Amino acid sequence: VTRSLTILGATGSIGQSTLDLVKREPGRFAVQSVTANTDVAGLAAAAKAVGARRAVICDASLRGALVKALNGSGIIPEAGPEAVVAAAGEGTDVVVAGIVGCAGLAPVAAAVERGGCVVLANKEPLVSAGELILELAAKSGATLLPADSEHNAIFQVFDFARPERVRRIVLTASGGPCHDLSLTAMRGVTPEQACAHPNWSMGAKISVDSATMMNKGLELIEAARLFPVSPEKIEIIIHRQSVVHSLVDYIDGSMLAQLGPPDMRTPLAYCLAWPDRMATPMPPLDLAAIGKLQFEAIDEKRFPATRVAREALMAGGAAPAVLNAANEVAVAAFLGGRIGFLDIVTTVERTLERYHPNAAPASVADVLSIDAAARAVAAELMLKEAA
Ligand code: NDP
Ligand code: MG
Repeated sequence: VTRSLTILGATGSIGQSTLDLVKREPGRFAVQSVTANTDVAGLAAAAKAVGARRAVICDASLRGALVKALNGSGIIPEAGPEAVVAAAGEGTDVVVAGIVGCAGLAPVAAAVERGGCVVLANKEPLVSAGELILELAAKSGATLLPADSEHNAIFQVFDFARPERVRRIVLTASGGPCHDLSLTAMRGVTPEQACAHPNWSMGAKISVDSATMMNKGLELIEAARLFPVSPEKIEIIIHRQSVVHSLVDYIDGSMLAQLGPPDMRTPLAYCLAWPDRMATPMPPLDLAAIGKLQFEAIDEKRFPATRVAREALMAGGAAPAVLNAANEVAVAAFLGGRIGFLDIVTTVERTLERYHPNAAPASVADVLSIDAAARAVAAELMLKEAA
């Protein structure tokens, strides 16, 4: 049977990988809506490529440009953040959440509230509002399918019927493009260097997160939300090759892992077809050519981000939302050439020290106001630092 599908962030790296899979199996998916932020041409091309019913541009000032780009196609043009949220909550069988950042929170919440399968690549909403998203899913019966490669790996091998038999979850980390640099060399890392990931091709924000390893910190919090294990049971190990995407260690000594090519189409295909499977164009892993699998511990002196994220997870309440917001503005400042590479995580840590909202967020609106306040605190800290 055909599945109805909505792709949030269709013009991005996750969106394009999803579109590629959809195009390979005509008839398997009926695309309802595709969304983007400002890339009108990319959005129109995506909508036409899969025959979407509707295309939604988040930036309302681009409505006219979208109408023009879709002229004669029969695809319905819509614009504005509310239109993105409405498309997310329309009730398609599957919604792929491929927006970057906490900007995806309201659409993700709308999709989860409506029910159905929500494919979560967009990890920031789970970090900022994980508990709320889980509550919404419990109410609506929505199925949260993790597309993040590590969490997808764990999802595939986790015994949800017997979570108490899990001794540890082991998240693997590639280490990113700065893994071999000294602390002194890291000081001078440019946006171009930070975005040149050795194994994965991704959007700019997650590429910088991988370089600082804050990506693994966000993923630690993401794992604590998605899987019924306590935070101290979640470990992180460096695995430069990105072949083993994560592992679950059971009390009898069995470790179950998922292996695969470093291509997001494998976890995305798993989610799109779940509980079935679908083919992807990648060749099978050539284990003999890979030869050895290598693992090593993280150097937290050079990469403090995972420690900072773990502290925020343990502190709970609003701390993960503050961490995420500060990281988003610090990454944007780094990409804009306004702060140095090492200042990113320092800014996050200082923002967490400075700003303690009294109460844990009780709604998506609460999270968004904590997010905004934390951004302001982080921005002020960065200005002071620059002065
Ligand atoms: P990209 O930057 O490549 O794409 C982001 C998408 O979101 C684009 O379609 C963009 O539209 C849209 N977007 C950006 N800002 C907004 C906004 N304010 N409102 C609405 N839409 C917006 O990111 P990625 O695809 O790399 O990442 C998406 C998410 O998936 C992130 O949370 C990332 O952490 C996660 N992820 C990504 C992986 C990857 O391999 N890329 C792997 C694992 C997780 P426009 O093009 O118009 O700007
Ligand atoms: Mg990941």
